[in-house]
Amino acid sequence: MIIVAGGGLAGAASACALAQAGQAVTLIERDHAPVDKICGEFLSIEAQESLAALGLDVAALGGHPIGRLRLIYGSAAVAVDLPFTGIGLTRKRLDAALLDHAQRAGVNIRRGVAIKRVEAGAALALDLADGTRLEATTLLLATGKYELRGAARPVAAPGDLVGFKMYFRLNPAARAQVADHIELFLFDRGYAGLQLVEGGVANLCLLVTRARLAALGGSWVALLADLQRETPILAERLAGATPLLDQALTIARVPYGFIHRPTEADPAQLFRLGDQAGVIHSFTGDGMAIALHSAALAVAAITNGEPSALYHQRLRRDIAGQITRASLLYRAQQSASAQRALFALAQRAPFALRWVARYTRVPLRARRRVNQDLPR
Ligand SMILES: Cc1cc2nc3c(=O)[nH]c(=O)nc-3n(C[C@H](O)[C@H](O)[C@H](O)COP(=O)(O)OP(=O)(O)OC[C@H]3O[C@@H](n4cnc5c(N)ncnc54)[C@H](O)[C@@H]3O)c2cc1C
Repeated sequence: MIIVAGGGLAGAASACALAQAGQAVTLIERDHAPVDKICGEFLSIEAQESLAALGLDVAALGGHPIGRLRLIYGSAAVAVDLPFTGIGLTRKRLDAALLDHAQRAGVNIRRGVAIKRVEAGAALALDLADGTRLEATTLLLATGKYELRGAARPVAAPGDLVGFKMYFRLNPAARAQVADHIELFLFDRGYAGLQLVEGGVANLCLLVTRARLAALGGSWVALLADLQRETPILAERLAGATPLLDQALTIARVPYGFIHRPTEADPAQLFRLGDQAGVIHSFTGDGMAIALHSAALAVAAITNGEPSALYHQRLRRDIAGQITRASLLYRAQQSASAQRALFALAQRAPFALRWVARYTRVPLRARRRVNQDLPR
């Protein structure tokens, strides 16, 4: 039996493509129903292409088009056209639509049951929270940021950043400023993204070091106030804004820069997808595209009867460059003086921002390998 662990983007996309290729596949998702996820919710052009290749009509989901990038530092800003039009779309809506699409394609979906652990032997045995045990001939591990006991990612060091996400209803002037933009704020020991999603709601998603958060008593409210003192434009955006979630969603220990390197010890029938295979810095807005690309590559390997090591090597070749460039860029802007210098460079040469947007994406040549419809 082919089992997909996790019904996020990588899991739902791979299950859907396998079913479309005529394979029997079971997907196991621990959440009963779609939930809000911590994510900036910027859907890049490659992610849109991958979803279209599965037959999902993304435009029908009502996302918010985003054609420009505005970089903000303190009270200064520089804006450029993006090399493509992105979409602001909530994960709750997108993940639900993709799972429904997979179900219609014939995937057997089990919701509301978590996989407790995986045991690698002659087959891969999965223990579920409801006490059942399943045996997989092929396992697609797509549990995102969460480790599965028995198959945890071999991460050298957990990340030092803590992530937060909150939806806001902005005041009309602020909403008009943000419209059509993904706004990227640089601040001391972190960064934030602000953009609109469907319904004109704003998503503020930010990452800050543990040390800065600890100095503020670990409080989201204190952090938000502190960031607004440091960044007047953020204060303008949030003036009179109404938070729309009871509390901010949060995540820690994200292993940014991780790219799975296959070893001899890896079971040949275990395929790591999405964040389980590679984690790119969030400011790129390309994690979802990587998840979907990994799904397409894994399905191609499985339908060709190839071992997972071959798939992992191909995926590594496709995504290592963008993940490494994003990590280098993050490191290069960590001090206040480096942020000032980088921002000054962006003001003098705004095309550099387009360069960053272009070279932190899944490359076109890699996407063509799994999607023949893309332009030559
Ligand atoms: C702060 C932040 C901002 C980001 N912003 C963006 C952005 O703007 N644009 C972008 O493209 N990417 C962004 N990303 C990255 C993006 O969210 C991820 O790369 C993407 O969600 C990975 O998809 P996935 O399918 O691997 O995992 P997920 O989407 O996380 O899905 C994993 C699924 O597995 C399920 N699951 C987990 N454990 C189990 C278990 N034991 N049993 C059963 N089910 C399980 C979960 O419930 C979940 O549904 C951001 C990430 C962070 C942290």
